[in-house]
Amino acid sequence: MNSWAYSTHNGAHIMDEALYKWLNCVVLTTGTGNVTASSKQVELARDYQATAILTTGDYILHLAEVGAEMGIDPKGDLNIRALPNIGDKKKLESTFGTKVLDSYGFHEVQWVSVECAEGDGLHIFEDAYVVQIVDVDTAEPLPDGKQGAICITELYKTGSPQFRYNIMDLSTLYPRGQCACGSWLRKMAPFAGRGDNMVKLRGVNVWPEALGDIATSVPRVEDDYFVRAFRSGDRDEMVVSVVSGVETCEHDAVAAEVETALKDATGVRVAAEVVAAGELDELTGFGSAAKLVRFRDDR
Ligand SMILES: [Zn+2]
Repeated sequence: MNSWAYSTHNGAHIMDEALYKWLNCVVLTTGTGNVTASSKQVELARDYQATAILTTGDYILHLAEVGAEMGIDPKGDLNIRALPNIGDKKKLESTFGTKVLDSYGFHEVQWVSVECAEGDGLHIFEDAYVVQIVDVDTAEPLPDGKQGAICITELYKTGSPQFRYNIMDLSTLYPRGQCACGSWLRKMAPFAGRGDNMVKLRGVNVWPEALGDIATSVPRVEDDYFVRAFRSGDRDEMVVSVVSGVETCEHDAVAAEVETALKDATGVRVAAEVVAAGELDELTGFGSAAKLVRFRDDR
């Protein structure tokens, strides 16, 4: 079932192309909830035993909630076999009782790589793409294992082929070798943030996504964050907002733990604040954007 928006944007159409032409699937072309009501989508998924629902992680979780209200169990009544949805991996897996497979792509070139059942790295579709990892500043290719910007050349395409297109998303290439799944297709690491999001904070290079990973690994902190840089007097400051379910009186204690973890990992002092669940949604675009916004520079 394809619940992406069928429009002048190519998102829904690239899925259809792959599903019809390459995977021999029959597609339920529902489009988003604006086109086909969410309750109707749940009915269609159940009646036709859809094996995957292509949409954002947020929307497929919303469909599970709508289904529950209708008495439809996402695990028992639906036939979801794989979750190719970007989002809250743990929640998606526990809701639908199946595996989330990470993948990487962007609309200028479409789907580039996907995780196999081994779960260690994303196999690149090397019959269609040459993927290089290049230095963020010089665009020179980097050795295997070094993190840099993803630079892609398409080997065939009608329309607008891209040559050494530097998307400035960060990743690393695995050394060549056979995967435990049997494939020789080369692997890359999952999306690791934006190369142009690097922020100079008092002379030190920091990546907001890296700060978010550190902050959300602190106990009692949930998997959601937002980073803001701003000027305070003559000084650059940065604050990482995180979400925690602890009582309000414990917010300061959790924030202090996050600040210590950030200082230990980066060597620079970065402030932290704790907010309640849902308070960051407006900043991150949770529930409305396919790729969440994690950083804002107010300087
Ligand atoms: Zn594999």
